[in-house]
Amino acid sequence: MFPKFYVMARPQRSKRRKSLSKLSEQKEPTEEQKLEAQRKMCGEKKRFAFKGDAERLAAEYGLGVYKCLVCGGWHFTSKPPDPT
Ligand SMILES: [Zn+2]
Repeated sequence: MFPKFYVMARPQRSKRRKSLSKLSEQKEPTEEQKLEAQRKMCGEKKRFAFKGDAERLAAEYGLGVYKCLVCGGWHFTSKPPDPT
């Protein structure tokens, strides 16, 4: 006849091996991950198909515009407009 604690005291599963392998998986972001981040940034922003439209509205907010390499449209930027 075993004491009750013998039944309850199960050895805990070690998570050390799992966490170690997780650490070793930390790498630089891949190109895909970078693109995904760009897509997210792009998707959250107001997009204009034409620079003129973007500039006109951006001027009202004192913002600049830049051509988005992700969607090919134009977004607002807090940076001053590029004089070129
Ligand atoms: Zn975009």
